[in-house]
Amino acid sequence: ATGGQANIGVVGLAVMGSNLARNLASREGNTVAVYNRSSDKTEHLVQAHPEAGFAPAFSYEEFAANLQKPRAAIIMVKAGRPTDAVIDELVRVFEPGDIIVDGGNALFTDTIRREKAVRETGINFVGMGVSGGEEGALLGPSIMPGGSDESWVTLGPILKSIAAIAEGEPCVTHVGHDGAGHFVKMVHNGIEYADMQLIAEAYDLIRRGTGKSPAEIADIFAEWNRGELESYLIEITAEVLRQTDAATGRPLVDVIVDQAGAKGTGAWTVQTALSLGVPVSGIAEATFARSLSSHAEQREISGGLPGPSAEGDFAVDDADEFIEKIRLALWASKIVAYSQGFDEIRAGAAEYGWKIDLGAIAGIWRGGCIIRAQFLNRITEAYAETPDLAVLLTAPYFVEALERSQSAWRDVVATSARVGIPAPAFSSSLAYYDGLRAERLPAALIQGQRDFFGAHTYKRIDKPGTFHTLWSGDR
Ligand code: NAP
Repeated sequence: ATGGQANIGVVGLAVMGSNLARNLASREGNTVAVYNRSSDKTEHLVQAHPEAGFAPAFSYEEFAANLQKPRAAIIMVKAGRPTDAVIDELVRVFEPGDIIVDGGNALFTDTIRREKAVRETGINFVGMGVSGGEEGALLGPSIMPGGSDESWVTLGPILKSIAAIAEGEPCVTHVGHDGAGHFVKMVHNGIEYADMQLIAEAYDLIRRGTGKSPAEIADIFAEWNRGELESYLIEITAEVLRQTDAATGRPLVDVIVDQAGAKGTGAWTVQTALSLGVPVSGIAEATFARSLSSHAEQREISGGLPGPSAEGDFAVDDADEFIEKIRLALWASKIVAYSQGFDEIRAGAAEYGWKIDLGAIAGIWRGGCIIRAQFLNRITEAYAETPDLAVLLTAPYFVEALERSQSAWRDVVATSARVGIPAPAFSSSLAYYDGLRAERLPAALIQGQRDFFGAHTYKRIDKPGTFHTLWSGDR
């Protein structure tokens, strides 16, 4: 190789970029070139971590000169315009054959556009989803790179060396071309929204149905974490519920304002699913539930709306039995959420021409990311058995789980409706499940209505072709 001594570079040294740079530098054989628009961040990182042996630069020219050819650099800056600005600069100082990686949270359609534009210069562009937040970036994230096969040859070994390890395997795979990596990262976040909402609904029902304290419910979640629900999100839920507020002595969860924030990846997942015609109802309800929570004014004026008379009487006879039912409802709804998410990835792959190994995606989510869980192994197994499985939840393992859970699931949804406690993700997941199972759906009536008012035509069950009825209402 010619050029500088660094084999990989990082542009953007805020929390994610500097942690990723430190992770890279800690691996045998890597020398990391670093650059940030504001020089103070670069100086601070290099001074704070002399052990990393960084090659700092204070201009893009210097940054390019510090890198071996073909050059490879990971951008970790604010998504949107800033990413485009940095790409323009790197294209200016890089040469054909070099690789520009965007590790930010880009929308996959932006990545498709950027890949196309950069490719015309002969430079490779890779959109790469990185999950796991600050800690993941430093200690091992789950990494979802898209881009060309050629780029993967160079990047693969470097990314494998810094990724989280799950059961001996690095949590990174070449997801597919151009925007495939950012697409999969987007759906990962959508599933995360659903999983979090389901856990929150479970907590709410337990608390209001049994009167248990947050600390007691923390013990329940800790117990659940030893079974089939074992996951990072269940684990941290127990810790959040156990936390006491130092100032008031109350459970911290009771002091936190009940309005959930969002940075937009859940909405992207739902918007994309709507365009693709994929019913990700659990993810959508989870996203809308955050929206509803944050509309303080609407909630304020709605507080006096009538509710069921049984509301105040909600106290279950057998707390243990009720809690077990909620565990099963959570398990079944979670299976639906993941099944819907993988359905969206399948549809995205078909629409954009990506060859995505769905089992491998479940595999790289086992470590480093927020939705990491044992249960992802079951998804990998399901796709190993049937690679083109059209509905993930029809795999034998999930069918067995749903068979075991469905009666409890129905009870929990019915109870929540009866006592007026919102459980939008539980109930929409169940409705989706029953919709899939239905032999006939009232969609036939909708086709009739469409033909009535718009002559949209319909198909018949007994013969091929397209039909239109001269309805008596026709004018
Ligand atoms: P951030 O706050 O999103 O971005 C700050 C960085 O962007 C700084 O280095 C800043 O440089 C740079 N920047 C902003 N505008 C710029 C411009 N016009 N030209 C050049 N550089 C510009 O940083 P972050 O939280 O570390 O996240 C970095 C990326 O990773 C984002 O895309 C984020 O969505 C993604 N991500 C974050 C997480 C997370 O948990 N935080 C997880 C996964 C992915 P200056 O210092 O000069 O201002």
